[in-house]
Amino acid sequence: MADKRRKLGFETRAIHAGQRPDPTTGAIMTPLYLSSTFAQSEPGKHQGFDYSRSGNPTRLAFETCVADLEGARYGYAMASGCIGATTIVHLLSAGDHVVACDDMYGGTFRLFDKVFARQGIQFSYLDLTDPGALESALQPSTKLLWLETPTNPLLKIMDIAALSDVAHAQGVHVVVDNTFMSPYFQQPLALGADMVLHSTTKYINGHSDLIGGVVITDDDELAEQLGFLANALGGVQSTFDSYLCLRSLKTLAVRMCAHEANALQIARFLEAHPRVDRVVYPGLPSHPQHDLAARQMSGFGGMLAVYLKGDLETARRVLSRVELFTLAESLGGVESLIEHPAIMTHASVDPAQRRAIGIDDTLLRISVGIESVDDLIDDLDRALVAR
Ligand SMILES: *Cc1c(COP(=O)(O)O)cnc(C)c1O
Repeated sequence: MADKRRKLGFETRAIHAGQRPDPTTGAIMTPLYLSSTFAQSEPGKHQGFDYSRSGNPTRLAFETCVADLEGARYGYAMASGCIGATTIVHLLSAGDHVVACDDMYGGTFRLFDKVFARQGIQFSYLDLTDPGALESALQPSTKLLWLETPTNPLLKIMDIAALSDVAHAQGVHVVVDNTFMSPYFQQPLALGADMVLHSTTKYINGHSDLIGGVVITDDDELAEQLGFLANALGGVQSTFDSYLCLRSLKTLAVRMCAHEANALQIARFLEAHPRVDRVVYPGLPSHPQHDLAARQMSGFGGMLAVYLKGDLETARRVLSRVELFTLAESLGGVESLIEHPAIMTHASVDPAQRRAIGIDDTLLRISVGIESVDDLIDDLDRALVAR
């Protein structure tokens, strides 16, 4: 009977998937199971949980729900996005090769370049906005294609379906860091990817009060290996943070809609502003890949990049004059943040590489929150026109 029913909608699953009233008390919210270990009735016989590193009921509810939102059966909640990436790369062995996009989260690049490269994993970094570029970069030892789309901070879009086709023809697994879109606006597994990574620190939790990550797959074999690695490496998410993420998922859809509506208005305002050189936002027709973005994503998200007219001093001045926007790293929370990638989030990227991908001194990255958009626009306008 159930399989004859229409699949439940995103908003419904965000509130109910993986959750039911607590059988012992009727509590409708999944309890915080703050127990490191679980009683066994006979050696090896338990109710599905034996030790909280390998599995915890609160964490499992979050993992089940977030995986469901990505159209998958398996999720592994981690203590950070970085340890999620670390766990994925541990699928590989020394000598294996990874092709990654050249404009990704600075911490992911640092992890690859300064940690895994030293352990014998090989990396090629490539502009993958042209799917044709991938074919020639694949080697017999290539095991993983690492995509982040839209990229951070320049919001370049990669064609997940086309790139996955090229990768799969050579038996290469595809990972998409989907942090910027959340499952509400982009579902990489449906486009052909094998694994999805989120820094749940960002939109999934959405309230800037925890650090977390999740790795999601619908592939049984990958799930078995990832489950093994999550437990063996031990970078799992705490029960309390799993609880917060589970709670936050319930409002993901309404938050994403509000982020996007505000971002689009701010992008249009900035694009028309005399002190602004250029705005990068996938929802603007001026974005070079607006059509691909519209095809691949169901919305354009809450992140935008803006190049000011002027120099580093202009950027410093604007950043010190904003009042509602907080000058801070990170993104995806309900409050608006602004930052300077060259000095802040992307400081660990080599300056020459930074310039090559377009992160210059007048570039600001904005994470648009869900405050009243008129207040946000007034704040930006005041900061831009002040001398
Ligand atoms: C923040 C972020 C990460 C890293 O996640 P942490 O939770 O900070 O470890 C990875 N990818 C993207 C796109 C991010 O924004």
